[in-house]
Amino acid sequence: NKQVILKNYVTGYPKESDMEIKNSTIKLKVPEGSKAVVVKNLYLSCDPYMRSRMRKMEGSYVESFTPGSPITGYGVAKVLESGDPNFQKGDLVWGMTGWEEYSIITPTQTLFKIHDKDVPLSYYTGILGMPGMTAYAGFHEVCSPKKGETVFVSAASGAVGQLVGQFAKMLGCYVVGSAGSKEKVDLLKSKFGFDEAFNYKEEQDLNAALKRYFPDGIDIYFENVGGKMLDAVLLNMKLHGRIAVCGMISQYNLEQTEGVHNLFCLITKRIRMEGFIVFDYYHLYPKYLEMVLPQIKAGKVVYVEDVADGLESAPSALVGLFSGRNIGKQVVIVSRE
Ligand code: NDP
Repeated sequence: NKQVILKNYVTGYPKESDMEIKNSTIKLKVPEGSKAVVVKNLYLSCDPYMRSRMRKMEGSYVESFTPGSPITGYGVAKVLESGDPNFQKGDLVWGMTGWEEYSIITPTQTLFKIHDKDVPLSYYTGILGMPGMTAYAGFHEVCSPKKGETVFVSAASGAVGQLVGQFAKMLGCYVVGSAGSKEKVDLLKSKFGFDEAFNYKEEQDLNAALKRYFPDGIDIYFENVGGKMLDAVLLNMKLHGRIAVCGMISQYNLEQTEGVHNLFCLITKRIRMEGFIVFDYYHLYPKYLEMVLPQIKAGKVVYVEDVADGLESAPSALVGLFSGRNIGKQVVIVSRE
């Protein structure tokens, strides 16, 4: 069983060499009387929150990885053996699995059965999995959006951002996204239907850039990056604006996080800024699927993936998230069947 092992806790930017590929010969079997499930992993998801698990933490919403053990994360897998009556041999599932060829999934780990196989299976790491639910719950449940409102999305071409933009357009909002390259900016406008987009790396003054696209201010900010962008956005929010704090990727590799200077805007503009964690909203998953599956099949919602081939490519794919190398959702193929 080939595995991706975290060698040690990481400081600063993660590197490929923080991980190594090893072989384990331990046979995976469901222990007598247990509700565990043994799976063959097909697709693995690279997600920014995994960076926080590479450091020693206590009292966080997720646990640290264990150095010397395989990395764990979301993935799509096939059931080989099941002690849980809800899953049968041959079922396809998505949920928390290991970065390895075969895993044993314990009953406390999130695991969903895949019913609709009429779409690319890898989508269950993205639009039909955790990032999809993040975009849906973060936008519809946290932002209380209304038709005609102005929406700004950062890291807009990524796994979550590309969907937030499309959901906001479906509702009739004016949507602008920021991303880190010309190729991504073009994608936002030509493929995902954003009204405008800009490359934040080319802007000397983020405040001026936002004023250019939002002369009357921003109603909704879907926050993915934090830091300087959040500071500039606060100055450009409208009265009673809403900020869904989804992530702050610009801060994840810093030992000392940057201060945000313009928080007073929360008071003067009566802004509601709310952090959220996707798994609090998993009860809405069936409702989300009911909405999004027909939209995918009708070609009304599109999804761009960046697919790395083979378990060996997983460390480099994960590290690439923090330099913006991924274009769209970063997936790793472990096996096609
Ligand atoms: P992406 O697919 O968007 O990949 C990460 C992207 O972040 C990169 O491609 C890069 O794009 C951008 N980025 C990297 N470093 C920086 C930086 N220093 N400053 C600005 N942008 C940077 O990731 P996801 O869509 O999966 O995740 C987006 C955000 O959502 C993350 O912050 C993540 O932690 C958060 N999240 C939160 C969840 C929750 O439950 N709250 C659940 C899932 C995700 P670019 O080239 O544009 O810079």
